[in-house]
Amino acid sequence: MNKGRFGEFGGRYISELLVPVLEELETAFEKVKEDKEFKNKLDYYLSKYAGRPTPLYFAENLSKKLGIKIYLKREDLLHTGAHKINNTIGQVLLARTMGKKRVIAETGAGQHGVATATAAALFGLECDVYMGKEDAERQKLNVYRMKLLGANVNIVDAGSRTLKDAINEALRDYATNFKDTHYVLGSALGPYPYPSIVKYFQSVIGIEARTQILEAEQCLPDYLVACVGGGSNAIGLFAQFLDDNTKMIGVEAGGKGISTGKHAARISGDGQKGVLHGSLSYILQDNGQIRETHSVSAGLDYPAIGPEHAYLHELKRAQYVSVTDSEALEAFHLLAETEGIIPALESAHAIAYLPKLAKQNKNKIIIVNLSGRGDKDVEHVAKIEGANL
Ligand SMILES: *Cc1c(COP(=O)(O)O)cnc(C)c1O
Repeated sequence: MNKGRFGEFGGRYISELLVPVLEELETAFEKVKEDKEFKNKLDYYLSKYAGRPTPLYFAENLSKKLGIKIYLKREDLLHTGAHKINNTIGQVLLARTMGKKRVIAETGAGQHGVATATAAALFGLECDVYMGKEDAERQKLNVYRMKLLGANVNIVDAGSRTLKDAINEALRDYATNFKDTHYVLGSALGPYPYPSIVKYFQSVIGIEARTQILEAEQCLPDYLVACVGGGSNAIGLFAQFLDDNTKMIGVEAGGKGISTGKHAARISGDGQKGVLHGSLSYILQDNGQIRETHSVSAGLDYPAIGPEHAYLHELKRAQYVSVTDSEALEAFHLLAETEGIIPALESAHAIAYLPKLAKQNKNKIIIVNLSGRGDKDVEHVAKIEGANL
């Protein structure tokens, strides 16, 4: 593999201004990977502050119902309610070793913004979050939450006023202020070395899960299942199993159905190869214009997929599928009722694929990454279902 490439995917399609900045970042990242003191500090905060290791829970009721053995990797139990904190603690610590005083981040629904603001508060760095105007209006509570944590929220009133416009603004800020600023990118996306940095910090999921399943079953799982927005929770789980026979399934947002065009299924839908935010991957576009995407879950609603997933798809090492909004909503209820766990709508996409998988795989062992908890989505789901709040 060429440096910074996953097969032909990935790379660094960015303005000249950012080349030395990303090279500095790459050097710092390579250094901390070998640094015992950094690793100890990271482990300390992941364990004492964020709540690692997360349990690998055997979901007995759901398993019985579907006729497969389902283990849930409980990232939903982490501080701030999702896997994103693994990456933001890691990157903010990295920023500190680089002597940066300020971090910036993009956010869609606000989950990554909150996780970055949390880590910035913890480690005493200034924090600016970029958020599309439309997203900020839809997610007022998360805007306030970031402010509570001491971050500035910068509303982006350009383009479609959503996540991709927020990333554009964050990259612009980074190119101007890199001397004292680190850009905490939220998923395994963007120009090299970001996909590798985010994968590294999320790999703790798979490292733990591998040990835990060997302890529980004395063998590796038959399948891994994870939802795929940018692809960080999925690659964090998959990474430790790439050399084994375990099959891997990434679940994309099928939205209102692939044929309607209203979805975010880049690989399993009608994405094509292209460049977005500094990286070559599968993206949703029409004649070179980035398409509007749709999903009931904001965290999966992005027009590109992380480059390593594009590569795993081409190698046929992982399989990418989609489930629709309504299938995800059904799974939201299914997990709540069978296990007493309300999943994030993103994670509900992974759950929604299980009944399909179970049809041809009786008694197989499956690890599902439960990337986040659903408290943030309860009001949204209630509204969709017409509940009178
Ligand atoms: C942001 C988010 C995702 C999607 O991001 P990935 O980088 O694909 O993991 C999935 N689940 C939850 C709970 C999220 O907050």
